[in-house]
Amino acid sequence: MIMENISRAFCQRESWQMLGYCAVCEQAVPLQVDWHYSDRRMINFRERFVCPLCELNARQRLCADIVSFVVRGRSAQAIYLYEQTTPFYRKLYHQLKQRNAAISIKGSEYLGMDKIAGQIYNDIRHEDAQNMTFSDEQFDVVVSNDVFEHVPDVQAALRESCRVLKRGGVMIFSIPFYVGHDISSQRVKLDEGKPIFIKSPMYHGNPVDENGSLVFHDFGWDFLKFCREAGFSDAYMMDCYDPLKGYISELFSLFIAGKQS
Ligand SMILES: [Zn+2]
Repeated sequence: MIMENISRAFCQRESWQMLGYCAVCEQAVPLQVDWHYSDRRMINFRERFVCPLCELNARQRLCADIVSFVVRGRSAQAIYLYEQTTPFYRKLYHQLKQRNAAISIKGSEYLGMDKIAGQIYNDIRHEDAQNMTFSDEQFDVVVSNDVFEHVPDVQAALRESCRVLKRGGVMIFSIPFYVGHDISSQRVKLDEGKPIFIKSPMYHGNPVDENGSLVFHDFGWDFLKFCREAGFSDAYMMDCYDPLKGYISELFSLFIAGKQS
């Protein structure tokens, strides 16, 4: 169990480095590891192993790695990311544009209920994942990093992501995932816009809101069924393991949902 051995070996230290390879920077780097976002018994392998150059953690680098793999070698494509102000967006934009200047890359953030979807605010495009302003079948690839747990009506968001994908397109996404849960559960419901808490409030970091983003859902295996019900022809989880790149946990997963060609 490499995870437990690593955790045990370094449990007296606050932070350390492990030499690895960043697929985004395409070079060997000392990956940064510490106890943030952990219970201090097991490192949070998903959120740490941060590359000092691109600042992406293991989860984000894996996603960028898979997106680059999917896009590589194809002609001009259109890509949409559910983010725009993050290091992930900037690094992936730079990497994909360098390889193919003709590629189209759009991103957006959710800026609040008072904003108009599709409008630009201080160079940031506002979109509501539940009701996006993009055309039908506009994108070849849609990329979402830990977004859907923050969307009140996640089925509506999945229908929208399928709608904006071209036939044969794919959505590549990560979600906080409870591998032992068959059924997803809601942490919060909205009643006329007001939150009704079913579980204790939980927030994740938000690049455009210092108060963070409220978590509405704890997802289990039925998320794959949600994808199929939303119109995707298939949806599956990829379990990824590559210690050199810092993808170490056996629960280190990324999801793919495809639209029928
Ligand atoms: Zn890097």
